[in-house]
Amino acid sequence: MGVHDVVKNITWLGHDGFLIKGDGKAIVIDPFQVKQCEPADIILVTHEHYDHCSPEDIQKVRKASTVIVTEANSARKLSGDVRVVQPGDKLTVSGIPIEAVPAYNTNKDFHPKENGWLGFVLTVDGVRIYHAGDTDLIPEMASVEADIALLPVSGTYVMTAEEAVEAAKAIKPRLAIPMHYGAIVGSADDARRFSDALAGTCEVVLL
Ligand code: ZN
Ligand code: ZN
Repeated sequence: MGVHDVVKNITWLGHDGFLIKGDGKAIVIDPFQVKQCEPADIILVTHEHYDHCSPEDIQKVRKASTVIVTEANSARKLSGDVRVVQPGDKLTVSGIPIEAVPAYNTNKDFHPKENGWLGFVLTVDGVRIYHAGDTDLIPEMASVEADIALLPVSGTYVMTAEEAVEAAKAIKPRLAIPMHYGAIVGSADDARRFSDALAGTCEVVLL
């Protein structure tokens, strides 16, 4: 399937939360303040901050067979079939290839590199989707191979919209989707500035 077919199967749940459907599976990333979502086969949690690792929301979207993939701090707050990974790890869950990649701050202290917190690259329907997690523009992004990139744009704890534009230029995805706005920090204006600045460089879809 092409990038545009796959993007139709991506639902923004708000903030950094997404439901991605493909290859017969439902994958949910960082569910937070979820109103409605089908049960997930796989849940990916990027790090332990309450707006990313929300046991209450995970409970809402899980079923008996759900596999959770996350880092060690979040794993302590969760139960069930939890697979702990570190940046650089690769695994396949329910037929879905998943790579854990680094996510950290370079000019603030909320997400220290040594915590080993995560972004993810997953492949569904032959398309590679990168969820950056809570991160700044980091050198490792240049080696992330992604068709679709979900990038934070709010500033404060993560990249600003302007920094996220530079991240998109480093990653060179076919399509980028801004996230991490509209809930705690960041506004639709951040998403719009991100989109406007990439016009002619990279297609941006606002969900
Ligand atoms: Zn965070
Ligand atoms: Zn965050």
